[in-house]
Amino acid sequence: MNADPHEIQKFSELAHRWWDPTSEFRPLHEINPLRLEWINARAPLAGKKVMDIGCGGGILAESMARKGADVTGIDLSEKALKVADLHSLESEVSVRYKHIAAEEMAAQEPGQYDVVTCMEMLEHVPDPASIVRAAATLVKPGGHVFLSTLNRNPKAYLFAVVGAEYLLRMLPKGTHDYAKFITPAELSQFVREAGLNVDAFKGLTYNPLTKIYALNQDTDVNYMVACSRPL
Ligand code: SAH
Repeated sequence: MNADPHEIQKFSELAHRWWDPTSEFRPLHEINPLRLEWINARAPLAGKKVMDIGCGGGILAESMARKGADVTGIDLSEKALKVADLHSLESEVSVRYKHIAAEEMAAQEPGQYDVVTCMEMLEHVPDPASIVRAAATLVKPGGHVFLSTLNRNPKAYLFAVVGAEYLLRMLPKGTHDYAKFITPAELSQFVREAGLNVDAFKGLTYNPLTKIYALNQDTDVNYMVACSRPL
């Protein structure tokens, strides 16, 4: 299976803190409104059928459901999915969560989704291109795929590993493996090889002095790509 058991375990061990906005998951809470608005502006979510791959505790999945989408979230961490389920009960925002690999989901439901998202997950899997192919299979012709990951260059190493894990201690040490980071050129190649168009890139930056995240054209560290499946 295209999954690293250590990665899944890492997220499972932290899962009970997923919805604590001051926890290890604080960065996901803080970037969520920014990425949600970007997605919703490019592919209005109300009434759409959405698949969120690597949904974890459901921060993005729930927020897309709040926008009126019919959301299914999949992940391989059972603990994270349990937390996601409990949270959706508590917040009364309905999301379907499933413990299934992206590739298997794609074989079961090809071409069924208007929008497929896969955020902050590709840098944790052994074969990210296979996940991108699964996303491309899941989306309908004319539908949209949104991916995000960490770029691989000295600045990304400094910010995402040294800064976040060692200096600012925002993330536990060992959260990210620099060797698995993916450049925009590599990700574009995966996307095109999967038969999708690359429509736009967006950078997500963090200012350690103001502690503010922002969307901009700087894709040096964390970035997203919007893709679409030709009709
Ligand atoms: N996408 C969510 C969570 C990101 S954390 C968000 O951005 O808010 C990364 C998630 O990827 C974790 O929940 C982890 O369990 C999941 N993950 C890691 N490897 C995976 C794999 N091979 N298949 C499915 N999920 C995976």
